[in-house]
Amino acid sequence: MESLNRVEISRTALRHNFLLLRKQAADATVMVMVKADGYGHGMIECAKVFSELGACAFGVAEAVEGVRLRQAGFTEPVFVLAGILPEIVPALFKYNLTPVVVDDWVLPELSRQAQEHNREIGLHLKTDAGMGRQGCLFEQVSAIVQQINRLPGLRLEGIMAHFPMADDRESQNTSRILSRFHRIIATAREYIPEDCRLHIANSGGLLYGIDTNLDMVRPGISLYGCYPNGEQGGRDAKGDKLQSVMRFVTRVIQLRRVPAGTGLGYGHIFTTSRPTTLVVLPAGYEDGYLRCLSGKSSVLVKGQRAPVVGRISMNLTLVDVTDLDGVQPGDEVVLLGRQGEEGITADEIAGWMGTINYEVLCLFGNLNNRVFVD
Ligand SMILES: *Cc1c(COP(=O)(O)O)cnc(C)c1O
Repeated sequence: MESLNRVEISRTALRHNFLLLRKQAADATVMVMVKADGYGHGMIECAKVFSELGACAFGVAEAVEGVRLRQAGFTEPVFVLAGILPEIVPALFKYNLTPVVVDDWVLPELSRQAQEHNREIGLHLKTDAGMGRQGCLFEQVSAIVQQINRLPGLRLEGIMAHFPMADDRESQNTSRILSRFHRIIATAREYIPEDCRLHIANSGGLLYGIDTNLDMVRPGISLYGCYPNGEQGGRDAKGDKLQSVMRFVTRVIQLRRVPAGTGLGYGHIFTTSRPTTLVVLPAGYEDGYLRCLSGKSSVLVKGQRAPVVGRISMNLTLVDVTDLDGVQPGDEVVLLGRQGEEGITADEIAGWMGTINYEVLCLFGNLNNRVFVD
């Protein structure tokens, strides 16, 4: 038995986006970011699609997500980008996950357990080239690299950084961060193994940056069909465009006709000014259709836009369909995605909510029943 609210994920669009990004990556390998349950799209199912097309590695935030990938049978390298505490280390060995370390704190424990397992563990080092969030500082890198070389059982396989403003095409920040990263590498060059791989590009770096690909790229949001800077991302020089992957659909559960002057829902924030036909939807903030969308958003009914009226509540939302013909209980209503000729994008919803497309996808995708289509 399933909810009347449903998030549909298009495998065809996932494939299209992966292939487009892999072309952009050129000689760099592609680590697909599948954290946050694949940005709300379902980590395991998305990983299957990317794996079949030759993704070289998966990126997750916490080790627990990597464990899920291993339990689902994936054999590609899995990078754990956040949260390597000593208590996590046994899982790294058991499930063959690659830690991204951010300082020297956990290195002795990694080395100790590597020796205990009689194994070598590959790791990547995250540097702070100007993101200002996580990673080791410029002046620490050389010493940490030397420490990794010295400690038995550890092998430095990669060094990375992250861009803070790669979504902004106009900003000079990305090229500044990139050259800072190259200077960081230079300070430790003599200690860095030959085959150590360098990587820095997220979607913004990959799509808009210059010479940011290095040895590996780490796209996330673009795999899921959104541009990191919203819709102005547009198409690339060849006219290729990312395809949106997610639709969020619900159904009409009641059709109501109310007279002019009817206050609607909690707080009566909207009162009808004409005889009004309303549809009731079984979706609300519990489903990620947040209360702050009240009075701002539109949905698609019969392929046409209709405004949400009154306050969105936990499980119910009202839509004014007075101007539409032939609406029936049971009809499909689209909250995100296309219906007929019309479409509502994650960027449009993000604008109504005062946030970014990333948050809309995580919210809708991770709070609703997902079904894979095509
Ligand atoms: C999430 C993440 C990415 C992917 O970023 P997008 O903007 O979604 O492409 C890349 N690198 C790191 C370190 C990340 O945390």
